[in-house]
Amino acid sequence: MSSNQQIHQRRLAAASRGVGVMCDFFAERAENATLWDVEGRRFIDFAGGIAVLNTGHRHPKVIAAIEQQLHRFTHTAYQIVPYESAVSLMERLNALVPIDGPVKSALFTTGAEAVENAVKIARAHTGRSAVIAFSAGFHGRTLMGLALTGKVVPYKSGFGPFPAEVYHVPFPAGPQGPSVAASLAALEQLFKSDVDPARVAAIVIEPVQGEGGFNVAPAALLSGLRECCDRHGILLIADEVQTGFGRTGRMFAMEHYPVQPDLIAMAKSLAGGMPLSAVAGKAAIMDAPAPGGLGGTYAANPLAVAASHAVLDIIAEEHLLERSNVLGARLTAFLESRRAQCPALTDVRGLGSMIAAEFADPATGQPSAALAARVQQAALARGLLLLTCGTDGNVIRFLYPLTIDDAQFEEALGHLDAALAQAAQALMQAA
Ligand code: PMP
Repeated sequence: MSSNQQIHQRRLAAASRGVGVMCDFFAERAENATLWDVEGRRFIDFAGGIAVLNTGHRHPKVIAAIEQQLHRFTHTAYQIVPYESAVSLMERLNALVPIDGPVKSALFTTGAEAVENAVKIARAHTGRSAVIAFSAGFHGRTLMGLALTGKVVPYKSGFGPFPAEVYHVPFPAGPQGPSVAASLAALEQLFKSDVDPARVAAIVIEPVQGEGGFNVAPAALLSGLRECCDRHGILLIADEVQTGFGRTGRMFAMEHYPVQPDLIAMAKSLAGGMPLSAVAGKAAIMDAPAPGGLGGTYAANPLAVAASHAVLDIIAEEHLLERSNVLGARLTAFLESRRAQCPALTDVRGLGSMIAAEFADPATGQPSAALAARVQQAALARGLLLLTCGTDGNVIRFLYPLTIDDAQFEEALGHLDAALAQAAQALMQAA
């Protein structure tokens, strides 16, 4: 077995630098909330493969489901020879999504593909072309995904031109951001100055922005958007790729809101580490594209579908929605209790277990990516894997498996405590 350093050197020589890699160590194996590297070091995984592992690494039921399917068939191409497991998965998703009336679904492979297909379906249904998204939103790395994404560096730089007729409205994020009224006014202004609302197919929004900094959309924003969509015949698409499957304490984040979307894009924790995504929505809208208009060779991969059935079982059987709320409340209380000792920790926010901590220089109030990185590195040195996010890179997000046990969760908070203390000390020394 090669050492981390050796593999790292080989990676630098072999892999495009365009795929940025956070860690300089390499995974050997993983189980639930624990990951070991090739040198036997143990990490508590609060990155969860970027929100994919709400049911943990290698949940025994997910493994059993994949193993069973492995001995039946691994690929037929669903569009050529379909299988019952995919049909029953769509039936389950249709029953779960917070959309009243008849619902239909389509299965794909990645989050970006789900978003792209939601836009295609909305265009086919409305016969309109324009799409509106939000600043700081993230919707994937394909060209339409990037067009919708509201952050240039590092995602969009050098990759244009993007599909036309995509517009952005400011997202009302936090006390410094615009108000809901200002955001909705910007939408109205867009209709006056840039695009006729009669040409708009859809508004795409993450109910809680993920990469953008765990910014929770205020209820008044979603209500305002729903009202605007209904007035103009525009479809409302919820991008629940990061928020889905229990992360926010409900199956879908849209369940926290008084209004419903027309379409939901989902992926990540849908299949416990296997590549699977979906779009679910009102049946009449989902049926707009003609046969052959949607799909993909690997869409509805049988192993991923089997894993997804197990994931949905686990979320129900292990009461992971309740667990999400309990763990999120515990983490929030812990972070709030450290604000006095760590004045750089300027905001704690989120829904359920979609919790984030924001860092700013207490002297200037300016967002500080350096302080967030310091906490992240100090935690990593103690064996706790954390991710940052936010347009200024100054937010730490917590994406632990909802299946983590209490003892390991407390161990992780201990590491976080030490990392916060270290950041606070560094700040004092610098002052
Ligand atoms: N939408 C959202 C909200 C996401 O968080 C992501 C991934 N971070 C995507 C879309 C893209 O998903 P994928 O990387 O699977 O294409």
